[in-house]
Amino acid sequence: MTSGHPYCGSSASIATMHGKEIVMAPILYHWLGVHLVCAEQVNTDVFGTFTGEIPRTGTMLETARKKAQAAIDATGCPIGLGSEGSFGPDPDVPFLASGSEIILLYDAYRDHEIYIHRKTKTNFDHIAIHPDQDLTRFLLRIGFPVHAVIIRPEACNEPRDVIKGLRDPDAVRAQIKIMAARSATGRAIVQTDMRAHLNPTRMKSIGSIARRLALRVRRLCPCCGLPGFGPVDVVRGLACADCATPTSLIKAVIYSCRGCSHRLVRHERPMTHLADPRYCPNCNP
Ligand SMILES: [Zn+2]
Ligand SMILES: [Zn+2]
Repeated sequence: MTSGHPYCGSSASIATMHGKEIVMAPILYHWLGVHLVCAEQVNTDVFGTFTGEIPRTGTMLETARKKAQAAIDATGCPIGLGSEGSFGPDPDVPFLASGSEIILLYDAYRDHEIYIHRKTKTNFDHIAIHPDQDLTRFLLRIGFPVHAVIIRPEACNEPRDVIKGLRDPDAVRAQIKIMAARSATGRAIVQTDMRAHLNPTRMKSIGSIARRLALRVRRLCPCCGLPGFGPVDVVRGLACADCATPTSLIKAVIYSCRGCSHRLVRHERPMTHLADPRYCPNCNP
């Protein structure tokens, strides 16, 4: 299936301390014939930690690029991968958590990068709690103990006062007491540990994005043969069913190549496919 692809038989490396290669390697091998190894020498914490001991600087894309390059530098593989996640309150839906993941592949030989960046499902959450309060509902909601937690004193930004990767209920209770005692408010913060090896929800997302990336990499530019030909933009303006005014709905997808700028319009809606008038700026201003 993969023979004939320029990456088939190549080795690639990923800088991760959280076992991401375990989920990604079989996917890259299946779809591309690429052998993925872990660049164990790279300390990815230098690119920032979720708990703030080392702040994250730059965008997710920039960090993913640095991680991919670090993996290449450490192993000498011609291809490097970088993965980066981000979690926080959803910008569109209040009180809902949102996650996003990026996985980037860098081909050093061709100086060519391909990446996928998508919103993902997440259990990202936290609670401020007194040692005598019941934590059962929170722990159930976040999928503990399969998903680990982090505990810290409330209203305290001392990164040393953070204990991570807890999966044992007794240890959680004990740490809540210790961390609450260190806080002026008498409460501890319990939050989800977002590191991939301690968060199966996140690991699953990484797997599904790795698959999307592999499928994208597999598609070669019909013009120059470079891997990663795929959707880069959409064409809006699907006509209103009542008055034919162009709406903001999508009527086609633009595929493009980063190497030679070859473009193709694909998935064009047939002429009979029209927009619901409620999306029409003329019928429903
Ligand atoms: Zn091309
Ligand atoms: Zn209309």
